[in-house]
Amino acid sequence: MTGSSGGITVVRGAKVFDGLSFLPGSPDVVLEGGVITAVGPDVGANAETRAGDTSAQVEVIDATGHTLTPGFVDAHVHMLMENAGDLSAILDPFSLQFYRSVHYMRRTLDVGITTVRDAGGADLGLKTAQETGVVAGPRLRISVNLIGQTGGHSDHLLPSGVQVPLFAACPGRPDGVGDGPDELRTLTRRMFRAGADQIKICTTGGVLSPGDDPRHSQLTLEEIRAVVQEAAAHESYVMAHAQGTAGIRNAILGGVRSIEHGIYLDDETIQLMLDHDVFLVPTLVAPLAVLATAATRSMNERVVAKAKGVVEIHRAAVARAIEAGVRIAFGTDTGVGPHGKNLDELALLADAGMSLEAALAAATSVSADLVAPDAGVGRIAEGHRADLVLLDRRLERTADLAGIDQAVVGVFQGGTRVR
Ligand SMILES: [Zn+2]
Repeated sequence: MTGSSGGITVVRGAKVFDGLSFLPGSPDVVLEGGVITAVGPDVGANAETRAGDTSAQVEVIDATGHTLTPGFVDAHVHMLMENAGDLSAILDPFSLQFYRSVHYMRRTLDVGITTVRDAGGADLGLKTAQETGVVAGPRLRISVNLIGQTGGHSDHLLPSGVQVPLFAACPGRPDGVGDGPDELRTLTRRMFRAGADQIKICTTGGVLSPGDDPRHSQLTLEEIRAVVQEAAAHESYVMAHAQGTAGIRNAILGGVRSIEHGIYLDDETIQLMLDHDVFLVPTLVAPLAVLATAATRSMNERVVAKAKGVVEIHRAAVARAIEAGVRIAFGTDTGVGPHGKNLDELALLADAGMSLEAALAAATSVSADLVAPDAGVGRIAEGHRADLVLLDRRLERTADLAGIDQAVVGVFQGGTRVR
Protein backbone atom coordinates (compact mmCIF):
# COMPACT_ATOMS: atom_id res chain seq x y z
CA MET A 1 0.00 0.00 0.00
CA THR A 2 1.43 3.32 -0.94
CA GLY A 3 -1.09 6.05 -0.03
CA SER A 4 -0.16 9.37 -1.57
CA SER A 5 -0.86 12.97 -0.77
CA GLY A 6 -2.17 13.40 -4.33
CA GLY A 7 -5.25 11.16 -4.26
CA ILE A 8 -7.83 10.23 -1.66
CA THR A 9 -7.25 7.55 0.96
CA VAL A 10 -10.11 5.97 2.91
CA VAL A 11 -9.31 3.94 6.03
CA ARG A 12 -12.28 1.73 6.79
CA GLY A 13 -13.26 -0.64 9.60
CA ALA A 14 -10.73 0.39 12.26
CA LYS A 15 -11.38 1.16 15.89
CA VAL A 16 -10.52 4.87 15.97
CA PHE A 17 -8.84 6.74 18.83
CA ASP A 18 -9.20 10.41 17.89
CA GLY A 19 -6.60 11.82 20.30
CA LEU A 20 -9.06 12.22 23.18
CA SER A 21 -11.14 9.04 23.26
CA PHE A 22 -12.28 6.04 21.21
CA LEU A 23 -15.02 6.95 18.72
CA PRO A 24 -18.15 4.77 18.73
CA GLY A 25 -18.35 2.06 16.06
CA SER A 26 -15.76 1.89 13.29
CA PRO A 27 -15.96 5.24 11.46
CA ASP A 28 -14.29 5.83 8.11
CA VAL A 29 -11.37 8.25 8.03
CA VAL A 30 -10.76 10.11 4.75
CA LEU A 31 -7.38 11.66 3.88
CA GLU A 32 -6.91 14.11 1.06
CA GLY A 33 -4.16 16.59 0.25
CA GLY A 34 -2.24 15.78 3.42
CA VAL A 35 -5.12 16.49 5.79
CA ILE A 36 -8.03 14.58 7.30
CA THR A 37 -11.11 15.69 5.38
CA ALA A 38 -13.83 13.57 6.99
CA VAL A 39 -14.39 11.23 9.94
CA GLY A 40 -17.62 9.28 10.44
CA PRO A 41 -19.80 6.38 9.40
CA ASP A 42 -19.98 6.01 5.61
CA VAL A 43 -18.05 9.23 4.82
CA GLY A 44 -15.71 7.00 2.80
CA ALA A 45 -18.50 6.15 0.34
CA ASN A 46 -19.20 9.88 -0.18
CA ALA A 47 -15.53 10.48 -0.92
CA GLU A 48 -15.52 7.63 -3.42
CA THR A 49 -18.57 9.05 -5.20
CA ARG A 50 -16.97 12.49 -5.30
CA ALA A 51 -13.74 10.99 -6.64
CA GLY A 52 -15.72 9.14 -9.32
CA ASP A 53 -17.00 12.50 -10.57
CA THR A 54 -13.52 14.03 -10.76
CA SER A 55 -11.65 10.79 -11.65
CA ALA A 56 -9.34 11.30 -8.67
CA GLN A 57 -7.55 8.19 -7.44
CA VAL A 58 -9.00 6.53 -4.35
CA GLU A 59 -7.22 4.01 -2.20
CA VAL A 60 -9.35 2.11 0.29
CA ILE A 61 -7.55 0.48 3.21
CA ASP A 62 -9.52 -2.25 4.95
CA ALA A 63 -8.45 -1.90 8.57
CA THR A 64 -10.98 -4.27 10.11
CA GLY A 65 -9.63 -5.62 13.40
CA HIS A 66 -7.08 -2.77 13.59
CA THR A 67 -6.83 0.41 15.65
CA LEU A 68 -6.17 3.81 14.08
CA THR A 69 -4.60 6.55 16.22
CA PRO A 70 -3.14 9.98 15.47
CA GLY A 71 0.62 9.96 14.83
CA PHE A 72 2.37 9.88 18.18
CA VAL A 73 4.16 12.96 19.53
CA ASP A 74 7.22 12.39 21.72
CA ALA A 75 7.84 15.53 23.75
CA HIS A 76 11.34 14.61 24.88
CA VAL A 77 13.91 12.93 22.66
CA HIS A 78 17.56 13.43 21.73
CA MET A 79 17.95 12.67 18.03
CA LEU A 80 21.71 13.11 18.00
CA MET A 81 22.66 10.59 20.63
CA GLU A 82 22.04 7.02 21.68
CA ASN A 83 22.92 5.13 24.86
CA ALA A 84 24.10 8.32 26.53
CA GLY A 85 26.62 7.95 29.29
CA ASP A 86 28.75 5.32 27.59
CA LEU A 87 32.16 6.21 26.19
CA SER A 88 31.04 7.01 22.66
CA ALA A 89 31.14 10.76 23.38
CA ILE A 90 34.91 10.44 23.76
CA LEU A 91 35.67 7.78 21.17
CA ASP A 92 33.38 8.56 18.21
CA PRO A 93 34.46 10.83 15.34
CA PHE A 94 32.58 14.12 15.73
CA SER A 95 30.36 13.92 12.65
CA LEU A 96 29.32 10.28 13.20
CA GLN A 97 26.39 11.52 15.34
CA PHE A 98 24.84 13.21 12.31
CA TYR A 99 25.05 10.13 10.08
CA ARG A 100 23.71 7.89 12.84
CA SER A 101 20.78 10.23 13.43
CA VAL A 102 19.45 9.31 9.97
CA HIS A 103 18.77 5.84 11.36
CA TYR A 104 17.42 7.15 14.65
CA MET A 105 14.95 9.33 12.72
CA ARG A 106 13.79 6.36 10.63
CA ARG A 107 13.40 4.05 13.63
CA THR A 108 11.34 6.72 15.39
CA LEU A 109 9.05 7.20 12.41
CA ASP A 110 8.64 3.43 12.00
CA VAL A 111 6.98 3.10 15.42
CA GLY A 112 4.47 5.78 14.53
CA ILE A 113 6.09 8.87 16.05
CA THR A 114 5.49 11.60 13.50
CA THR A 115 6.43 14.67 15.57
CA VAL A 116 9.07 15.09 18.28
CA ARG A 117 10.49 17.79 20.49
CA ASP A 118 14.24 17.43 20.70
CA ALA A 119 15.40 18.33 24.21
CA GLY A 120 18.95 19.10 23.20
CA GLY A 121 21.45 18.08 20.54
CA ALA A 122 19.49 18.30 17.30
CA ASP A 123 20.43 21.34 15.24
CA LEU A 124 18.78 23.31 12.46
CA GLY A 125 20.51 21.14 9.85
CA LEU A 126 18.69 18.01 10.99
CA LYS A 127 15.38 19.85 11.21
CA THR A 128 15.84 21.28 7.71
CA ALA A 129 16.88 17.87 6.35
CA GLN A 130 13.59 16.41 7.60
CA GLU A 131 11.48 19.31 6.34
CA THR A 132 12.98 19.14 2.86
CA GLY A 133 12.73 15.35 2.56
CA VAL A 134 16.48 14.68 2.68
CA VAL A 135 15.96 12.56 5.80
CA ALA A 136 12.78 10.62 6.64
CA GLY A 137 11.71 11.10 10.24
CA PRO A 138 9.42 12.86 12.65
CA ARG A 139 8.84 16.60 12.41
CA LEU A 140 11.25 18.30 14.78
CA ARG A 141 10.88 21.05 17.33
CA ILE A 142 14.47 21.70 18.41
CA SER A 143 16.11 23.14 21.53
CA VAL A 144 19.64 23.10 19.97
CA ASN A 145 21.64 22.77 23.21
CA LEU A 146 20.93 22.64 26.93
CA ILE A 147 21.31 25.83 28.96
CA GLY A 148 22.58 25.54 32.52
CA GLN A 149 25.00 26.79 35.12
CA THR A 150 28.69 26.19 35.66
CA GLY A 151 29.07 22.73 37.19
CA GLY A 152 25.44 21.92 36.41
CA HIS A 153 23.69 19.17 34.48
CA SER A 154 24.82 20.52 31.12
CA ASP A 155 28.44 21.20 32.15
CA HIS A 156 30.53 18.14 31.46
CA LEU A 157 33.99 19.41 32.35
CA LEU A 158 35.29 16.78 34.78
CA PRO A 159 37.69 17.47 37.67
CA SER A 160 40.29 15.53 35.65
CA GLY A 161 40.21 18.38 33.15
CA VAL A 162 38.62 16.16 30.51
CA GLN A 163 35.52 17.51 28.77
CA VAL A 164 32.89 14.80 28.04
CA PRO A 165 29.97 16.78 26.68
CA LEU A 166 26.64 15.21 25.85
CA PHE A 167 26.51 17.64 22.92
CA ALA A 168 29.86 19.17 22.00
CA ALA A 169 29.59 22.78 20.89
CA CYS A 170 29.88 23.36 17.15
CA PRO A 171 28.83 26.21 14.80
CA GLY A 172 25.21 25.03 14.64
CA ARG A 173 25.06 24.12 18.32
CA PRO A 174 26.43 26.81 20.64
CA ASP A 175 27.59 25.97 24.15
CA GLY A 176 24.94 26.54 26.84
CA VAL A 177 26.89 26.90 30.08
CA GLY A 178 26.73 30.25 31.87
CA ASP A 179 25.85 32.13 35.07
CA GLY A 180 23.81 35.16 36.03
CA PRO A 181 20.71 36.59 34.33
CA ASP A 182 22.70 38.57 31.74
CA GLU A 183 24.79 35.64 30.59
CA LEU A 184 21.76 33.37 30.49
CA ARG A 185 19.88 35.91 28.39
CA THR A 186 22.78 35.90 25.92
CA LEU A 187 22.87 32.11 25.80
CA THR A 188 19.12 32.06 25.13
CA ARG A 189 19.55 34.51 22.26
CA ARG A 190 22.34 32.33 20.86
CA MET A 191 20.05 29.28 20.86
CA PHE A 192 17.35 31.22 19.01
CA ARG A 193 19.98 32.50 16.57
CA ALA A 194 20.91 28.85 15.92
CA GLY A 195 17.27 28.03 15.17
CA ALA A 196 15.80 26.88 18.50
CA ASP A 197 12.01 26.44 18.58
CA GLN A 198 11.99 26.35 22.39
CA ILE A 199 14.61 26.67 25.12
CA LYS A 200 15.76 23.83 27.36
CA ILE A 201 17.20 24.73 30.76
CA CYS A 202 18.42 22.57 33.64
CA THR A 203 17.13 23.67 37.06
CA THR A 204 18.47 20.64 38.94
CA GLY A 205 21.24 18.10 38.71
CA GLY A 206 20.63 14.90 36.86
CA VAL A 207 21.19 11.20 36.59
CA LEU A 208 23.56 11.26 33.61
CA SER A 209 25.84 14.05 34.81
CA PRO A 210 28.46 12.34 37.00
CA GLY A 211 29.30 15.36 39.16
CA ASP A 212 25.94 16.54 40.49
CA ASP A 213 22.90 15.34 42.39
CA PRO A 214 19.37 15.27 40.91
CA ARG A 215 18.00 16.64 44.21
CA HIS A 216 20.11 19.81 44.11
CA SER A 217 18.65 22.89 42.48
CA GLN A 218 20.54 24.75 39.75
CA LEU A 219 19.99 28.27 38.41
CA THR A 220 18.43 30.97 40.57
CA LEU A 221 14.86 32.19 40.14
CA GLU A 222 16.28 35.39 38.58
CA GLU A 223 18.29 33.39 36.06
CA ILE A 224 15.27 31.27 35.11
CA ARG A 225 13.08 34.38 34.73
CA ALA A 226 15.65 35.97 32.42
CA VAL A 227 15.49 32.94 30.10
CA VAL A 228 11.68 32.75 30.24
CA GLN A 229 11.39 36.48 29.43
CA GLU A 230 13.74 36.16 26.50
CA ALA A 231 11.87 33.09 25.20
CA ALA A 232 8.57 34.98 25.47
CA ALA A 233 10.07 37.81 23.42
CA HIS A 234 10.62 35.19 20.69
CA GLU A 235 7.00 33.97 21.12
CA SER A 236 8.44 30.78 22.50
CA TYR A 237 8.70 29.06 25.86
CA VAL A 238 11.00 27.13 28.18
CA MET A 239 11.14 23.45 29.11
CA ALA A 240 13.02 22.59 32.30
CA HIS A 241 15.00 19.51 33.14
CA ALA A 242 13.87 19.43 36.80
CA GLN A 243 14.20 16.42 39.09
CA GLY A 244 14.64 17.71 42.67
CA THR A 245 11.80 19.43 44.51
CA ALA A 246 13.41 22.86 44.97
CA GLY A 247 14.46 23.07 41.32
CA ILE A 248 10.98 22.03 40.19
CA ARG A 249 9.47 24.81 42.34
CA ASN A 250 11.90 27.41 40.97
CA ALA A 251 11.17 26.36 37.39
CA ILE A 252 7.39 26.67 37.85
CA LEU A 253 7.65 30.03 39.64
CA GLY A 254 10.08 31.19 36.96
CA GLY A 255 7.43 30.56 34.30
CA VAL A 256 8.47 27.42 32.40
CA ARG A 257 5.87 25.56 30.32
CA SER A 258 6.93 21.99 31.08
CA ILE A 259 8.73 20.08 33.80
CA GLU A 260 10.85 17.26 32.41
CA HIS A 261 11.27 14.14 34.59
CA GLY A 262 9.87 15.55 37.89
CA ILE A 263 11.37 12.73 39.95
CA TYR A 264 11.02 14.36 43.38
CA LEU A 265 7.63 16.04 42.89
CA ASP A 266 5.80 16.48 46.20
CA ASP A 267 2.24 17.58 47.02
CA GLU A 268 3.19 21.27 47.05
CA THR A 269 4.91 21.22 43.64
CA ILE A 270 2.08 19.13 42.17
CA GLN A 271 -0.37 21.82 43.34
CA LEU A 272 1.90 24.50 41.83
CA MET A 273 1.86 22.67 38.50
CA LEU A 274 -1.94 22.69 38.57
CA ASP A 275 -2.08 26.37 39.58
CA HIS A 276 0.31 27.43 36.81
CA ASP A 277 -1.03 25.00 34.17
CA VAL A 278 2.40 23.43 33.67
CA PHE A 279 2.84 20.14 31.79
CA LEU A 280 4.74 17.19 33.25
CA VAL A 281 6.84 15.07 30.86
CA PRO A 282 7.78 12.10 33.05
CA THR A 283 10.18 10.07 30.83
CA LEU A 284 9.81 6.98 33.05
CA VAL A 285 11.76 4.82 30.58
CA ALA A 286 14.94 6.91 30.91
CA PRO A 287 16.45 5.57 34.17
CA LEU A 288 15.46 2.05 33.10
CA ALA A 289 17.34 2.61 29.84
CA VAL A 290 20.45 3.76 31.76
CA LEU A 291 20.37 0.52 33.76
CA ALA A 292 19.91 -1.55 30.59
CA THR A 293 22.89 0.19 28.95
CA ALA A 294 25.01 -0.33 32.07
CA ALA A 295 24.33 -4.07 31.90
CA THR A 296 26.10 -4.32 28.54
CA ARG A 297 28.63 -1.46 28.43
CA SER A 298 31.11 0.38 30.59
CA MET A 299 29.40 3.27 32.42
CA ASN A 300 30.24 5.65 35.25
CA GLU A 301 29.34 3.87 38.53
CA ARG A 302 27.87 7.02 40.10
CA VAL A 303 25.51 7.43 37.17
CA VAL A 304 24.33 3.84 37.46
CA ALA A 305 23.80 4.16 41.23
CA LYS A 306 21.72 7.32 40.71
CA ALA A 307 19.56 5.64 38.07
CA LYS A 308 18.87 2.70 40.40
CA GLY A 309 18.00 5.06 43.24
CA VAL A 310 15.31 7.03 41.40
CA VAL A 311 13.19 4.43 39.57
CA GLU A 312 10.66 3.73 42.31
CA ILE A 313 10.61 7.31 43.69
CA HIS A 314 9.91 8.58 40.18
CA ARG A 315 7.06 6.13 39.53
CA ALA A 316 5.38 7.09 42.83
CA ALA A 317 5.70 10.83 42.10
CA VAL A 318 4.22 10.46 38.62
CA ALA A 319 1.37 8.35 40.04
CA ARG A 320 0.53 11.19 42.45
CA ALA A 321 0.66 13.76 39.65
CA ILE A 322 -1.66 11.64 37.48
CA GLU A 323 -4.13 11.28 40.34
CA ALA A 324 -4.05 15.04 40.99
CA GLY A 325 -4.89 15.79 37.35
CA VAL A 326 -1.61 17.34 36.18
CA ARG A 327 -1.42 17.49 32.36
CA ILE A 328 0.94 14.67 31.47
CA ALA A 329 2.63 14.70 28.06
CA PHE A 330 4.32 11.67 26.59
CA GLY A 331 8.11 11.95 26.54
CA THR A 332 10.83 9.36 26.70
CA ASP A 333 14.30 10.96 26.79
CA THR A 334 15.11 8.52 23.97
CA GLY A 335 18.77 8.85 23.12
CA VAL A 336 19.39 7.97 26.73
CA GLY A 337 18.00 4.62 25.57
CA PRO A 338 17.75 3.15 22.07
CA HIS A 339 15.70 4.92 19.39
CA GLY A 340 12.55 3.11 18.32
CA LYS A 341 11.70 1.85 21.82
CA ASN A 342 9.86 5.07 22.74
CA LEU A 343 6.46 3.40 23.02
CA ASP A 344 7.62 1.40 26.07
CA GLU A 345 6.69 4.56 27.99
CA LEU A 346 2.97 3.94 27.34
CA ALA A 347 2.83 0.80 29.50
CA LEU A 348 4.81 2.58 32.23
CA LEU A 349 2.30 5.46 32.24
CA ALA A 350 -0.52 2.92 32.56
CA ASP A 351 1.40 1.21 35.36
CA ALA A 352 1.54 4.61 37.13
CA GLY A 353 -2.26 4.85 37.01
CA MET A 354 -3.32 6.09 33.58
CA SER A 355 -6.25 4.53 31.75
CA LEU A 356 -5.76 3.27 28.18
CA GLU A 357 -7.38 6.41 26.77
CA ALA A 358 -5.41 8.74 29.06
CA ALA A 359 -2.09 7.14 28.05
CA LEU A 360 -2.95 7.37 24.34
CA ALA A 361 -4.11 10.99 24.79
CA ALA A 362 -0.81 11.81 26.52
CA ALA A 363 1.04 10.52 23.45
CA THR A 364 -1.15 12.36 20.95
CA SER A 365 -3.36 15.39 21.75
CA VAL A 366 -1.71 16.39 25.04
CA SER A 367 1.85 16.17 23.72
CA ALA A 368 0.74 18.03 20.60
CA ASP A 369 -0.72 20.84 22.75
CA LEU A 370 2.63 21.15 24.50
CA VAL A 371 5.04 20.70 21.61
CA ALA A 372 3.33 21.98 18.47
CA PRO A 373 -0.08 23.53 19.20
CA ASP A 374 0.06 25.32 15.84
CA ALA A 375 0.86 22.24 13.74
CA GLY A 376 -2.57 20.61 13.62
CA VAL A 377 -1.21 17.27 14.82
CA GLY A 378 -2.28 14.85 17.55
CA ARG A 379 -5.96 14.45 16.57
CA ILE A 380 -8.06 12.52 14.11
CA ALA A 381 -10.58 15.18 13.18
CA GLU A 382 -11.56 17.13 10.11
CA GLY A 383 -8.95 19.69 9.13
CA HIS A 384 -6.12 18.13 11.10
CA ARG A 385 -2.94 16.92 9.54
CA ALA A 386 -3.12 13.36 8.21
CA ASP A 387 -0.55 11.87 10.61
CA LEU A 388 -1.88 8.42 11.52
CA VAL A 389 -0.78 5.11 13.00
CA LEU A 390 -2.33 1.77 12.16
CA LEU A 391 -2.02 -0.95 14.82
CA ASP A 392 -2.72 -4.59 13.97
CA ARG A 393 -5.08 -5.13 16.90
CA ARG A 394 -8.09 -3.53 18.54
CA LEU A 395 -6.83 -1.87 21.73
CA GLU A 396 -9.21 -2.71 24.57
CA ARG A 397 -7.30 -2.51 27.85
CA THR A 398 -4.06 -1.14 29.31
CA ALA A 399 -2.46 -4.60 29.05
CA ASP A 400 -2.60 -4.16 25.25
CA LEU A 401 0.02 -1.41 25.57
CA ALA A 402 2.80 -3.87 26.41
CA GLY A 403 5.00 -4.35 23.34
CA ILE A 404 2.75 -2.04 21.32
CA ASP A 405 5.60 -1.04 18.98
CA GLN A 406 5.33 -4.57 17.52
CA ALA A 407 1.70 -3.83 16.60
CA VAL A 408 2.49 -0.83 14.37
CA VAL A 409 1.82 -1.88 10.78
CA GLY A 410 1.20 1.44 9.08
CA VAL A 411 2.30 5.06 9.51
CA PHE A 412 1.04 8.12 7.63
CA GLN A 413 2.74 11.49 7.81
CA GLY A 414 1.07 14.44 6.14
CA GLY A 415 -1.14 12.00 4.22
CA THR A 416 1.77 10.02 2.79
CA ARG A 417 2.22 6.45 3.84
CA VAL A 418 5.77 6.29 5.25
CA ARG A 419 5.57 2.76 6.56
ZN1 LIG B 1 16.73 14.60 28.08
